[in-house]
Amino acid sequence: MDNAATLLDEIHGQIAAAAKVAQRKVDEITLIAVSKTHPAEAIIPLLERGQRIFGENRVQEAQSKWPALREQYPDAEVHLIGQLQSNKADDAVALFDCIHSLDRPSLVKALSKAMDKANRRVPCFVQVDVGEEDQKGGCAISDLPELLKLADDAAIPLIGLMCVPPLGIEPAPFFALLDKLATDHGLPGRSMGMSGDFKTAVMMGSTHIRVGTALFGERGNQ
Ligand SMILES: *Cc1c(COP(=O)(O)O)cnc(C)c1O
Repeated sequence: MDNAATLLDEIHGQIAAAAKVAQRKVDEITLIAVSKTHPAEAIIPLLERGQRIFGENRVQEAQSKWPALREQYPDAEVHLIGQLQSNKADDAVALFDCIHSLDRPSLVKALSKAMDKANRRVPCFVQVDVGEEDQKGGCAISDLPELLKLADDAAIPLIGLMCVPPLGIEPAPFFALLDKLATDHGLPGRSMGMSGDFKTAVMMGSTHIRVGTALFGERGNQ
């Protein structure tokens, strides 16, 4: 068995262990394999091992890799986890099965228009800036109710909230905050947890963990 498949099995084991501690069912937790920067040759072993959901952070990179991979693996899903420019909304709606980075009114407008045009509704997470870090993207907590209402009015299918907590601090309080915000707004999905903190995230209620480095190894500079 090659390395990627071994790592995938290990991560599933760690998810199961964390879920057990939290008395959660493993099938409530979706593993998104974050394949950004990695070529098709690195992705295929995971597809062969049964992994079907992948995360990319750039529209152009995803466009160059996934159409060919999907011919071979038609049931593979690709989720956009990175920031999205409004002028790429059409491309994003055409390509992705889920968008985790809806974070501002202008993007609600652009995505809604793109979804109407394509006659395809792509489920979205609203990204929340839980650490109040301006540079990272994500909607301010105080703007969340308004943004959710706008998205709802625009018939964007909302499945949950997403966050990337600040680096270098204990993430659990931020996961707890996102979990509470999702509960308050009646949303089932919580996209939270990366290679360094997915076990904590699973214990705090994550439904979608986004794991790159722990599956594929370190990324080069991008
Ligand atoms: C790159 C990225 C990840 C994966 O991070 P790792 O630490 O490599 O697991 C998860 N979420 C987002 C938004 C990312 O950009």
